[in-house]
Amino acid sequence: MSVLVVGSVALDTVETPFGSKSDILGGSAVHASVAASFFAETSLIGPIGEDFPDEHIKFLESRNIRTQGLTRIPGQTFRWSGYYEFDMNQAHTRDTQLNVLAKFKPELDPNLRNSEYVFLANLDPEIQLSVLKQLNKPKLVAVDTMDYWIKSKRTILHEVIKKVDFVLMNEGEIRMFMETPNIPLAAQRLMKLGAKAVVVKQGEHGALFFTNGTHFSAPSYPQETFRDPTGAGDSFAGGFIGYLAKTQDLSQGNIRRAIIIGSVMASFSIEDFSLDRMRRLKAREIMERFDEFRRFSEFEALSVAHFV
Ligand code: AMP
Repeated sequence: MSVLVVGSVALDTVETPFGSKSDILGGSAVHASVAASFFAETSLIGPIGEDFPDEHIKFLESRNIRTQGLTRIPGQTFRWSGYYEFDMNQAHTRDTQLNVLAKFKPELDPNLRNSEYVFLANLDPEIQLSVLKQLNKPKLVAVDTMDYWIKSKRTILHEVIKKVDFVLMNEGEIRMFMETPNIPLAAQRLMKLGAKAVVVKQGEHGALFFTNGTHFSAPSYPQETFRDPTGAGDSFAGGFIGYLAKTQDLSQGNIRRAIIIGSVMASFSIEDFSLDRMRRLKAREIMERFDEFRRFSEFEALSVAHFV
């Protein structure tokens, strides 16, 4: 079963306490599709400019990602520039240049319209909405966004949320979007808008999952190697949806497993700049880290004998 990822394709300029790099491969669709490609066949849809290096396309193809939907548009590739301080959970945007993203109007071919697992990665909500309208009965659609779009296109974002199954956001974004510091309340509000479930990414502190009546908390990982958090959220989402597409099982137990897979993929992604860690990542390492996550969150039941 394949995954369709629609989002930004970028040349990022990033500064962290561990170094700075200019015009490196990034973009929400790139990070998400690379993570998804470890689990399922993945098609990527996003705009690139005339300046987008062919070597990046070759890298995506080396991961068996279908790049027919990578649309070259006259002009410059989307660029994001940002920095992180010691609290690397918080990205600070220096500059966003939409460039070809502003002209992007995706037309899905008939095959892609039948996609069953779809991730609408961080992108203009108008484009997200136009993709949603082109899909025929998807099984699961997940969506992500960020402060840039919450500030500029809040109403359209509401329309998008009404039509999707899962919303994945980081804690700052969900608080901002639902206008409350209380995360469970923010998740409830998103579900009232129409989302069936909400995943709140908390960076190094783990992730929370909310559906009607249930809640699950993925543990944090004691990350020792940590160079660039850019793309963590998208790697989480790509791993999450790729794993669900592969297993075709939307039971609570399997969704919890998918959340841990998402956390595992995010934890690898931040070990190096751009997609560099993902280029070297092996399936065996994913399995080993998944087991570590499982061990961290195991604890035994309390017994009445423990009380006076
Ligand atoms: P995250 O996974 O949240 O760290 O997302 C990082 C990626 O989002 C970067 O590689 C950026 O290129 C991309 N990005 C930044 N701003 C925007 C935006 N306004 N719209 C779409 N993508 C963006």
